[in-house]
Amino acid sequence: MTPAPRSRDARRAPRLGIVLRRPTARRTRAAPYDRAEILARWGGCCYCDGPAEELDHVIPLALGGPDVAANVVASCRACNQAKYTKPLATWAAED
Ligand SMILES: [Zn+2]
Repeated sequence: MTPAPRSRDARRAPRLGIVLRRPTARRTRAAPYDRAEILARWGGCCYCDGPAEELDHVIPLALGGPDVAANVVASCRACNQAKYTKPLATWAAED
């Protein structure tokens, strides 16, 4: 006698007795700060005083910095790329 075919869910979660939730579509989340407002508030790159067109996370996201307004400053592209994922103190010590 052949065993009954297992259901699709049973194959995904064998013997756990649970049904896995289907993955939901990734939600797009609005940034928790206003990009234009931050660029206007700084009035230029906070590192070199040149024109700013980007936002920089002072504590980089890659190092666990929060994605909140208090961690975001206006930056020009050159400074943002030079700082990249370095902590501010590390980058500043290079100059
Ligand atoms: Zn700059």
